[in-house]
Amino acid sequence: MSIKKISKKDIGKLLEEWSCERTVFLPSKDSGVTEMAKWDGKDTSFLEWYRNTVVPAKSSFLPPMEEMFTFYKNNDGYHLELSPDQQKRIVFGIRPCDARAIAVIDKVFTDSYEDPYYVSKRKNTVLVGLSCTSPYDSCFCTSLAVKPAESPDVDLMFTDIGDEFLVEEITDKGKELMTAASMVKKTTSADEAKLKTIRATVSGKVSRKVDTKDITKKLQASFGDKAYWENVAAKCISCGVCTLLCPTCYCFDICDELSKKQGTRYRRWDSCGFSIYTRMPVENPREDKWRRVRQKVCHKYEFYPMNSEVIACTGCGRCIRLCPVNWDITQVLASVPAQQVAKK
Ligand code: SF4
Ligand code: SF4
Repeated sequence: MSIKKISKKDIGKLLEEWSCERTVFLPSKDSGVTEMAKWDGKDTSFLEWYRNTVVPAKSSFLPPMEEMFTFYKNNDGYHLELSPDQQKRIVFGIRPCDARAIAVIDKVFTDSYEDPYYVSKRKNTVLVGLSCTSPYDSCFCTSLAVKPAESPDVDLMFTDIGDEFLVEEITDKGKELMTAASMVKKTTSADEAKLKTIRATVSGKVSRKVDTKDITKKLQASFGDKAYWENVAAKCISCGVCTLLCPTCYCFDICDELSKKQGTRYRRWDSCGFSIYTRMPVENPREDKWRRVRQKVCHKYEFYPMNSEVIACTGCGRCIRLCPVNWDITQVLASVPAQQVAKK
């Protein structure tokens, strides 16, 4: 893997060069909530304040709400007009935890059925990672094998080493982007030594730990323990924040907006935490709150790993930071009983 470097003062110019070919998205708080937003062509001040976005970068591929197609009826029958997003883009500044989350949901949207809306955006995007140097108290990524200052899940990986960024070319897509960049410099052995130190230091800053050994088996064993799950769910107010803003949650709902003989079909984020989630014609399969909370935990730590051998949580800590009642998944994981209980 090749490593290059670029002065911090040249970042604006680099982004400008990239914007000739692609739309650049980077961390912004212009909307009032930190998220990846279209670059205005000037402002790079996020480099001073950015720790991580509130809205995870999954929104670049699975937006909170997106138009799927419009339809209308005339004398010839029904007609559909698809609106695929073919925009070429760069998402700059994604943290390794959120890049891992994209890898988790890539599988969902490509495995047995290729979702054209997700896949077209994903294929046209270059992911540029930015090493995390200031994790939150709520982060526990290192317990999930995510390294805060390196990532195999991006195309390019930037690490702040002071007045410069080191740039690792992870994929051919990333390499191509750097080959065309004009202000790139060669690295020295001292730069690479700095990179090693930064990686070790920042990993050490992630102090929250979760023991994931046998967690899938423990959850299987405690699945039917109603008293345990009722206790776990007691303070949850079912606001859905921990799922909507979780980078590995991907549930969506479909809705139509109709006017006379035409309409638009949208899809939008949904949450298994809501009492009306997957409401069937007769009933909701998870009417009790404890069953919905159990679903949220078990989907990430039991069902997804059983199918894909990967835990669908990256330890980004959002569900801890953003929960209005301080529900804490790390406390839940530490408290899962190991005894065998009949399934309900
Ligand atoms: S953010 Fe907290 S209160 Fe809201 S659904 Fe999640 S656990 Fe419940
Ligand atoms: S479950 Fe919580 S810590 Fe894990 S990926 Fe989702 S928001 Fe992040």
